[in-house]
Amino acid sequence: TPKQLQFKLVLLGESAVGKSSLVLRFVKDQFDDYRESTIGAAFLTQTVKLDEQTQVKFEIWDTAGQERYKSLAPMYYRNANCAVVVYDITQPQSLEKAKSWIRELQRQADPNIVIALAGNKADLATTRRAVPREEAERYAEEEKLLFLETSAKDSTNVSELFALIARKLPLE
Ligand code: GDP
Ligand code: MG
Repeated sequence: TPKQLQFKLVLLGESAVGKSSLVLRFVKDQFDDYRESTIGAAFLTQTVKLDEQTQVKFEIWDTAGQERYKSLAPMYYRNANCAVVVYDITQPQSLEKAKSWIRELQRQADPNIVIALAGNKADLATTRRAVPREEAERYAEEEKLLFLETSAKDSTNVSELFALIARKLPLE
């Protein structure tokens, strides 16, 4: 029987960058153009097969990005094994917000936390891109973060993002 490992994952990032949509795509393979915004935080789980012997179960805390919920975030990242910090490639200030979340994680979260930066809404790249991929890539490299551009809408790199994280987690 394969062994199953459980990891707590937290999603952080500005409101409307697509955190809930990424989770919905990953967990249910669905997308919704008119998602209601998250209140407080939502909890979902998804299990991925890493290889014949190993399954990784993600316990996902999808937080609300609004400023009024900011004080709740430490509750969700404090015991997290991994974090996905999301920005929107059409909104440069959402990358600045992502960087501030990453600084907070680096100071306050578990020192072994695996952090991934996700540039979401990649499906809008040809018409509305406002953050060059290279700029985010360079920042992620400097901070030793996993990095992918994703689209919850067309599925680009969503399962790949969680697979990258799973492969970085301690599997013993
Ligand atoms: P959250 O506040 O970060 O959880 O963001 P939501 O998941 O609620 O998404 C905010 C809005 O962006 C919604 O209208 C979504 O349909 C839209 N959205 C989310 N992901 C994508 C994406 O990858 N591409 C596009 N074009 N729209 C997206
Ligand atoms: Mg949400």
